[in-house]
Amino acid sequence: MVTLRAQKKEWIQELKQAGVFAPAFELCELIAFGMGLDRAAQLAEPDRPVTPEEAGRMAALLSQRCAGQPLQYILGRWEFYGLEFLVGEGVLIPRADTEALVDAGLRLCRGFSAPRILDLCSGSGCIAVALAKHRPDAQVTAVELSDVAFEYLTQNVAHNGASNVRPIRADVLEGPDGVTAGERFHLIVSNPPYIPSGELAGLQREVRREPAMALDGDKDGLLFYREIARLYRDSLTPGGWLAFEVGDGQSGDVQKILMQQGFTEISIAKDLEGFERVVMGRRSE
Ligand code: GLN
Repeated sequence: MVTLRAQKKEWIQELKQAGVFAPAFELCELIAFGMGLDRAAQLAEPDRPVTPEEAGRMAALLSQRCAGQPLQYILGRWEFYGLEFLVGEGVLIPRADTEALVDAGLRLCRGFSAPRILDLCSGSGCIAVALAKHRPDAQVTAVELSDVAFEYLTQNVAHNGASNVRPIRADVLEGPDGVTAGERFHLIVSNPPYIPSGELAGLQREVRREPAMALDGDKDGLLFYREIARLYRDSLTPGGWLAFEVGDGQSGDVQKILMQQGFTEISIAKDLEGFERVVMGRRSE
């Protein structure tokens, strides 16, 4: 029988040839999933044989991955802000970049006790749940339109025991009436779709497996920023904050949008790669 060490070499080659960017890392994750061996176990037993059943299971996983299926969809779960989220086709995969928005949100909420928070275009619910778990005194409303994403959102709320998150299925672009019933929030956060429509086809093949609905920000990518800033400003308490995740190169445009809508104390925050990723502003008192 082939040893794990020898088999890993072959599998890494397979992934590399299929254009997978971090083949060794991804293989470790796939082995953990397919063979029940975490990374420490893989290191501890390099000469362990790979059984034919294991080889068969791994072949199926590798062929999915080599065909461009994102690793996270194969695993069915992914970590975000130290929490585990269930993911699969039809929902945007939580990204480490977005943790900068959670950081900013938590900072902006510091001055409020029992803050009411609204998360628009919630997707998997990663932002809403991360905020809720770090602020157990908060009430978080999470709004999502897609049926599939909404299913993941409700599952992720339960999976993380975030009983202070209330999922609502609604179209953010229709405005707050169907969403908030006149409620005012101390903080509104959103990672809306922000890729210009014309750039969708040129995205990495894994990203193209993610729902276009979570990515497509209309012609210039800015539709949701304009609409949310305009429609939801009055859903903030006076002195409340709006914080957006933005795409590369969009921070200037989004700051302008916030200015035009009368927001003050506008600032930006960077993500872990140093990109301007969060734009925030305050509704004046
Ligand atoms: N960050 C995602 C990407 O670049 C886009 C997510 C979004 O549109 N909100 O793939």
